[in-house]
Amino acid sequence: MKHTYFDHNATTPIDPGVLEAMLPFLRGEFGNASSRHELGITARRAVDFARERVAALVNVRPAQVVFVSGGTEANNLFMKGAAACLAPSQVAVSAIEHPCVARPAQELGRAGWKVRRLAVTAAGELDLADLDAALAEPTGIVSVMLANNETGVVQQVAAAATAARRANAWIHTDAVQALGKLPVDFAALGVHAMTVSAHKIYGPKGAGALIIDRKLGLRPLIHGGGHEQGLRSGTENVPAIVGFGAACDLAAARMAGLRARLEALRARLEQGLGSIGATVFGAAAPRIPNTSYFAIDGIMGETLVIELDKAGYAVAPGAACSSANPEPSATLVAMGVDPDLARGAVRFSLGAGNTTEEVDDFLRALNAVVTRLRGLAAMVA
Ligand code: PLP
Repeated sequence: MKHTYFDHNATTPIDPGVLEAMLPFLRGEFGNASSRHELGITARRAVDFARERVAALVNVRPAQVVFVSGGTEANNLFMKGAAACLAPSQVAVSAIEHPCVARPAQELGRAGWKVRRLAVTAAGELDLADLDAALAEPTGIVSVMLANNETGVVQQVAAAATAARRANAWIHTDAVQALGKLPVDFAALGVHAMTVSAHKIYGPKGAGALIIDRKLGLRPLIHGGGHEQGLRSGTENVPAIVGFGAACDLAAARMAGLRARLEALRARLEQGLGSIGATVFGAAAPRIPNTSYFAIDGIMGETLVIELDKAGYAVAPGAACSSANPEPSATLVAMGVDPDLARGAVRFSLGAGNTTEEVDDFLRALNAVVTRLRGLAAMVA
């Protein structure tokens, strides 16, 4: 059965134009970008061209783009690479960071850093007063994501950066979920480093970048031939990097129109969710346009995801689903959501290919699933 895909925050399909741009580098143009012969020079030019396109999308100079394998590696490079340059003090990260920021922060805890999780409000926004309170203590590293991967809530990163810089801390933002959905301007955010990833913007898996302030003396995680200005050794994944560059161009060209269209589709979805009695998390805050995170009281998110999958719709559960009584999402717990309601969380994330009909069909399917599950529950009770 063909599924209708509403899980674009997990990954996006590769855009056909992006694939076309990549194909020559998976075929005849297979050179190593470090080789001095013509094949190598062609690969190097392609990598440099992609670097310019990534740089243009986030308004930086190409030399500020360090290509890595994806968002996870970029976040690890910043957290561990920054810590390696600093004497241990406090590392402050928001309580809603993706595990690839939260876990490296925990690791720094083993190396003598004091780890501080910054509170968020009930709407899912960083509590800036809690950041200020944290910064009263000596702090080396702060990381606050630009848009949360579950709720889609956009964080006040520029304000966090101002506060962090005043306290002489290095400030990083994980912009993986914001890129391509909102204008992302590195200088305007005022951060020292920023993470982006290709496969969330209709590019391939296996490419991402850490955007850096060149004044930052980061230490690399991976040593070797000194690629990427010494910050990330290893032969470049040329096809994926080329795809990343093409995806950035596409994002720049269609962002405004796509944003308006997805916002309208989400509003339509959430109107329907309201009549089913769903709770939408983070709806009171500014959000990226494609994301809706909701729960229906009394129905586990995991159950809804499985039933919707059977009906032909791909959405994501909000809780870690490995046990009978799954852990509620850390993001929702940080927002103060009741754990039972949080266990009902389902993430619905739209993409460029979705249509009004698909949203309407999804609402009908959801209604049918909810009615059936409630009927079953009533029989058991
Ligand atoms: N950061 C956020 C906010 C994400 O949503 C993700 C992916 O889900 C990542 C980082 C990891 O990126 P990648 O899959 O490129 O390693």
